[in-house]
Amino acid sequence: MLMNVFCHNRHLLHLPRRELEDGEWVENPDKPDRIELLKQSLSELDGIEIVHPRDFDESTLLLVHDSEYLGWMRMRCDALAPDKEYFPEVFGYDRMFDTGTPLMKNSLSAALDSVSTALSALEDVVNGNRVAYALSRPPGHHASKGIGGGYCYFNNAAIAARYFQGTTAARVSILDLDFHHFNGTQDIFYDDPTVFCVSLHGDPKVHYPWISGFEKETGEGEGKGYTMNIPLPTGTEGKEYKEALERALLAIENFGPELLIISLGTDTHAEDPIGAFSLVDEDYEDVAMLIMSLNLETLIVHEGGYNPQASARAATRFVKGVLASTG
Ligand SMILES: [Zn+2]
Repeated sequence: MLMNVFCHNRHLLHLPRRELEDGEWVENPDKPDRIELLKQSLSELDGIEIVHPRDFDESTLLLVHDSEYLGWMRMRCDALAPDKEYFPEVFGYDRMFDTGTPLMKNSLSAALDSVSTALSALEDVVNGNRVAYALSRPPGHHASKGIGGGYCYFNNAAIAARYFQGTTAARVSILDLDFHHFNGTQDIFYDDPTVFCVSLHGDPKVHYPWISGFEKETGEGEGKGYTMNIPLPTGTEGKEYKEALERALLAIENFGPELLIISLGTDTHAEDPIGAFSLVDEDYEDVAMLIMSLNLETLIVHEGGYNPQASARAATRFVKGVLASTG
């Protein structure tokens, strides 16, 4: 089959330079190469078309995020000189929960482009293609309604879920495979029984974002039972990972969504400098085939993955698994 991969050229203009980690300035790992190498590798596969997304209106952000957050971002971004980065000074007043996510003059537009990438891929699925892949950058899954962080400004996957639902209560499932817990996505849908959210991730007792991702977090109110967390130990290899994935997929199958959204982080790869799992290239093909066996309409939204070469190999094997499953 043919599969469209959506990528926005303007992500090249999103150039965070540094972050503050353990009191030291270090190089920010959200580099354009993360997506450029991946796009190049995917473009060499038979059956893949790279498509430029269309631009969506800023109002789509309000499907998930509050207007105060948008207003704060606009105020901060507009005040910046082109070569400056702004880091939060006052937590609780500034709307960022860490010091890894600087604001720059073009941050709001770059993050909106990333949302447009996800929504264009969603449209492709709604229009009849079973699977589409959004190479969204900056990533989204750490961003909550009114606060960003973890290199994320707006939650691409969550906005896609709400856009798909429109004014209905259509059932959507978000399966997050990034190494890090999807604290933003979980928070957005925590009391919502129409969006079943599942995450496999590094144990938050040891790994970012530390504040959430424990097995006991299962939703609240009407959403009780519609969040599922599967924390896994440092060094988890393919076999254990796929066993955990099968548990997640069984739960998704029981929920019976009309759309599956995969938040695909490739920082689960053994060669990733930030993640701490031990998946190898071929595992990603198996993972994709397991997911595709659900036979659901599927939107893939890219999240993390900080070794561009390993990430490109992992995502390419994932897409090969998708293509092999769909004939
Ligand atoms: Zn991650």
